[in-house]
Amino acid sequence: MKRICVFCGSSRGSRPEYVQAAKQLGRLLARKKLDLVYGGARVGLMGEIADTVLAEGGEAVGVMPEFLLDKGIAHEGLSDLRIVASMHERKRVMAELADGFIALPGGFGTLEEFFEALTWAQLRMHPKPCGFLNTCQFYRRLLEFLDHAVDEQLLKKEFLSMIIVAENPEVLLENFEIYSPPSIEKWIDL
Ligand code: AMP
Repeated sequence: MKRICVFCGSSRGSRPEYVQAAKQLGRLLARKKLDLVYGGARVGLMGEIADTVLAEGGEAVGVMPEFLLDKGIAHEGLSDLRIVASMHERKRVMAELADGFIALPGGFGTLEEFFEALTWAQLRMHPKPCGFLNTCQFYRRLLEFLDHAVDEQLLKKEFLSMIIVAENPEVLLENFEIYSPPSIEKWIDL
């Protein structure tokens, strides 16, 4: 693995632990010489992780659509800031650049980006690991909901277990390194 894509809140959230987690992951990426790929903003947890990676001598690549650039939220000190035409192109570029996807605590944007990466993994469009950094059990209720989707036979258990979940960034990345994707068909009713 050379680059990890991190999806996370464009806000900081209510708990100092969320900021600490962004910084902890940023330090770890820099130490492991894994480049950060992310949305390119200077705000929220996005800004915290990028600042930390850069302060620790790592590389941070931002991918930002033009209309967000116009709002003045781009991080101006990145190793590389790629300006793209749309949110769709942003996700495509981030997905192509990265060797794995991590979601930190976040809102709609974080969830949407993460679930697209996961959906593409499920369709075997890529073999890259996807995981939640489950700081303060932020994703507990979402994981419970996904168990419900399995119970209701709308999601295969094997696909749910594709999501690597850890509260500690080191454990998360160790599991990324040994990940191999399941080789089963997506469709339950075939
Ligand atoms: P959210 O979790 O809704 O705060 O959205 C954050 C995620 O969606 C990030 O990973 C970004 O790639 C993208 N995103 C959504 N809103 C913004 C924003 N205002 N600035 C930069 N990126 C954003």
